[in-house]
Amino acid sequence: MTDKMLKFVEIGQQNPPKRQISDRKADFNEIYDEFINQKAQQQSSRCSQCGVPFCQVHCPLSNNIPDWLKLTAEGRLREAYELSQSTNNMPEVCGRICPQDRLCEGNCVIEQSGHGTVTIGSMEKYITDNAWQQGWIKPIEVKNEKNQSVGIIGAGPAGLAAAEQLRKKGYRVTIYDRYDRAGGLLIYGIPNFKLEKHVVERRTKLLKEGGIEFIHNFEVGKDGTLDQLRKKHDAILIATGVYKPREIELPGNDLNNIFPAMEFLTASNKKGLGDKVELFDKGILNAEGKDVVVIGGGDTAMDCVRTSIRQKAKSVKCLYRRDKENMPGSAREVANAEEEGVEFIWLSSPKEFRGKNKIENLLVDQIVLGEPDETGRRRPEVKKNSEFEIKTNMVIKALGFDPEDLPLLFDSKELQVTKWGTIKTDFDTMETNLKGVFAAGDIVRGASLVVWAIKDGRDAAESMIKYLKNNEIRKSKVA
Ligand SMILES: Cc1cc2nc3c(=O)[nH]c(=O)nc-3n(C[C@H](O)[C@H](O)[C@H](O)COP(=O)(O)OP(=O)(O)OC[C@H]3O[C@@H](n4cnc5c(N)ncnc54)[C@H](O)[C@@H]3O)c2cc1C
Ligand code: SF4
Repeated sequence: MTDKMLKFVEIGQQNPPKRQISDRKADFNEIYDEFINQKAQQQSSRCSQCGVPFCQVHCPLSNNIPDWLKLTAEGRLREAYELSQSTNNMPEVCGRICPQDRLCEGNCVIEQSGHGTVTIGSMEKYITDNAWQQGWIKPIEVKNEKNQSVGIIGAGPAGLAAAEQLRKKGYRVTIYDRYDRAGGLLIYGIPNFKLEKHVVERRTKLLKEGGIEFIHNFEVGKDGTLDQLRKKHDAILIATGVYKPREIELPGNDLNNIFPAMEFLTASNKKGLGDKVELFDKGILNAEGKDVVVIGGGDTAMDCVRTSIRQKAKSVKCLYRRDKENMPGSAREVANAEEEGVEFIWLSSPKEFRGKNKIENLLVDQIVLGEPDETGRRRPEVKKNSEFEIKTNMVIKALGFDPEDLPLLFDSKELQVTKWGTIKTDFDTMETNLKGVFAAGDIVRGASLVVWAIKDGRDAAESMIKYLKNNEIRKSKVA
């Protein structure tokens, strides 16, 4: 093993090169270039093959990282791919957009010994992109078709991962989604420069070819009720994500040109996919030539500022009430935004939107960080007489998301939710209080990550398979 591996002392850490900043800002394409084969092999060989791999422990999917790195270093790329896909339904997506600094790479032992982490995310992307190129990734072939059917509400990563796992076992799977395309936030939330849409589309195409049925433009609650779907299918999975934007109630909130983040990002993604978007085409939901202020400090805020830059905004400012060290967004994304020319105004909080009909100025308070609150984070407190104005003609609010009122929306008052409005499930089985109805992803956890949605989708599928098998046995006994 030592022949090929443990090269972290002689080989330095390298990520695939980032494109020139001026090129990045000129289009919406991903910002990292491809690894070439030899480089990928070299970088994999830096892994120290720990006995207890902390990278794997801190990957929500428990990906067998050291083994697929070793196979890559040995040039056994097909085996590396087979191993990698055995625990992850979308390794090329996670490789691109997981916050690796907080998960696998943040816990790499050689990082902690000062040599720089193995670039696990880029390797995962490389292994799977290469498998697509080589034609190794094929649609599901079902050997033993089952009569039982499953209805999945939501075609985001949680719904798609569950669908794949269930279909592989031969169940008939139908996915209902209110959008016109599959992918959930992968398609209409996360911008192209982090995740190009063809990467998502080739996955959903493959699932269709494997026999999964997609019914688009079908909103449960409007085009059918949960009860109707329960009668139609043997089991149901709710994987609807969280979409209600958090609000700040400030004077002037109803002025024009103040938008929730998802409205802005969806319009931009739809344009990228070639759709007509009237509000964008009329210049309303388009940042071009404008002084944009984005309020918020998470990944959604970073996506908004970087989208505004690419839409050729005149200036882009990001307002966040804590400091850089306490931002919830990934450090990598903040660095990318800074490189691309976003101005961060740390320790600041909006106080009033000002203007006649449209937003013209934002009144802002300065903030100081006080004592830690119940979450352990230092509480932001307004600094007396510190207010100042920022000139702006477009404000984007990226303050996070809450669940919609699903019991009301689904006309299913008996569906139990938590005090936060997320769906209550049995911790072990992921079943809700309604028999045969399971739930997964953001609608259970609250706004989270793609990798957790995939994990939940896989776990829910496993539990649903047990449930369906038990039902089958019960029925055959009665018969
Ligand atoms: C702007 C943005 C950027 C992000 N960036 C990252 C990132 O870089 N890395 C990362 O790991 N995570 C990121 N996330 C978080 C990640 O996208 C989510 O955690 C993940 O998509 C959740 O998956 P899900 O399947 O639970 O829900 P979603 O992806 O939200 O999918 C839910 C699906 O359900 C459908 N649906 C909802 N209600 C109904 C209904 N009533 N009837 C029918 N269909 C319905 C929706 O149309 C949607 O297609 C980001 C989120 C946002 C908003
Ligand atoms: S899924 Fe995410 S956390 Fe797990 S190995 Fe891949 S990039 Fe790291």
